[in-house]
Amino acid sequence: MEKILNYIDGEYREPQSGKWLDNYEPASGEVYSKIADSDASDVAAAYEAAKNAFPEWSNTPIEKRSRILMKIADLIEENLYRLAEAESKDNGKPLSLATTIDIPRASANFRFFANAITQFSSEAHESVGLQTMNFTLRQPLGVVGCISPWNLPLYLFTWKVAPAIAAGNCVVAKPSEVTPLTAFLLGEILTEAGLPKGVLNIVHGTGPSAGQAIVEHADIKAISFTGGTKTGEHIARTAAPMFKKLSLELGGKNPNLIFGDCDYEKALNVSVRSSFANQGQICLCGSRMYIEASIYDQFKNDFVEKVKALQVGHPSEADTNIGAVVSKPHMEKVQSYIKLAKKEGATLLYGGEAVTIEGYENGYYLQPTILEVDDNTCRIQQEEVFGPLVTLMKFSSEEEALALANGVKYGLSATLWTQNLDRTMRLSKQLEAGIVWVNTWLNRDLRTPFGGMKQSGVGREGGFEALRFFTEPKNVCIQFGDRL
Ligand code: NAD
Repeated sequence: MEKILNYIDGEYREPQSGKWLDNYEPASGEVYSKIADSDASDVAAAYEAAKNAFPEWSNTPIEKRSRILMKIADLIEENLYRLAEAESKDNGKPLSLATTIDIPRASANFRFFANAITQFSSEAHESVGLQTMNFTLRQPLGVVGCISPWNLPLYLFTWKVAPAIAAGNCVVAKPSEVTPLTAFLLGEILTEAGLPKGVLNIVHGTGPSAGQAIVEHADIKAISFTGGTKTGEHIARTAAPMFKKLSLELGGKNPNLIFGDCDYEKALNVSVRSSFANQGQICLCGSRMYIEASIYDQFKNDFVEKVKALQVGHPSEADTNIGAVVSKPHMEKVQSYIKLAKKEGATLLYGGEAVTIEGYENGYYLQPTILEVDDNTCRIQQEEVFGPLVTLMKFSSEEEALALANGVKYGLSATLWTQNLDRTMRLSKQLEAGIVWVNTWLNRDLRTPFGGMKQSGVGREGGFEALRFFTEPKNVCIQFGDRL
């Protein structure tokens, strides 16, 4: 059985404990590989490799760093189908999605930061009266930690490690133990691209063991984390006494506001996608739809009909829209929320059942599920489920829609469907979310800031924000002339 090994100091290594975790294929429910169950000793080895690599890497000319990142991007592209198949097998997502979104985006992350680092500049301020020149040195932090989740495995892993190494840091990174395969395969690519050994070290294993060891390591200067809000809270508590720099990209419960004056067909079609893409397991999926009363009944009926047409199937089938959810415990979590919602008074409009796929009877398949609610305070409206489940609720005024949208502890993204420019501006300012999409969804320009408000996180990634996070700004003040 294939073994998923750590990648430390430019070579694949077994975990020092000799322990392994089972890796399940969501589409079949079978164990198909073993994952290194790493602990603090592996993290310590990864840290040593990173520390030793740092002096040379941080002094490598930016053009050379950039060329290596470009080469990594090229090699990811050359390996597109192999990586997409691996991602789909490991995660359960449709192969079509991994081929068109996940892996191209992983390549784009390296390409983007290879370019961005060559344009990253700092400020200078001349103070004429004081005869001083201040400039900001932007220095890499040293060894940093990157920890990523299972829903967009290589996409989010590379979104962190690419800016970290572009800025001259060395990294100890941990992908999710639920989906480690593509990060494991990335090791070969890093070696082939000529990334010096020790610059990027990949340690596999569980959050409480390998992840916790990264956060607890006294000399790892910063943690860039994407995952659940509870884990983020735990990481913040652990890191606070060491004054580590933190970027926390956490959970969401994103509202999708549909006004009567919207482009109806576009709002309908995109809302199906924004509710169920990747089995609803994208942090930016709109899991709460609020629809204006004037179009509510019509929109509800049309939405249900469209969702009924979605094909649940094996991820490798070309006509599959909804693949397998990521794991058995996650499937059970989603099912428990459906039960809870019905108990709370929600009406099931469609779905709610597990699906059996012939030949893959033990796979984790769920129908896309639509629930109608009339109480925004119930748990299904307040808590992140992160699966193929969306709620529909009616509103009668813009003020009410805004209050409903903002009435949760999360603030990651919001989507707005309207043709009214004044309303667009009013709501864009008032929605409590790090990203507001207007008449679109999941359109991402990598130059823009990415992150959440409230319990969806602290800090921003993307563009120069990521490079700012992974560097220390130091002010240098030089006096010139004859002033005493
Ligand atoms: P998770 O918090 O369980 O795990 C995320 C990562 O943290 C994994 O690698 C895990 O091993 C590690 N981890 C767990 N406990 C740890 C600890 N004590 N110390 C250090 N590391 C630890 O999240 P998940 O279930 O993998 O992912 C789903 C969650 O991620 C959802 O809440 C989703 O909204 C969120 N997410 C957020 C964004 C965003 O950009 N805001 C993007 C994708 C996913």
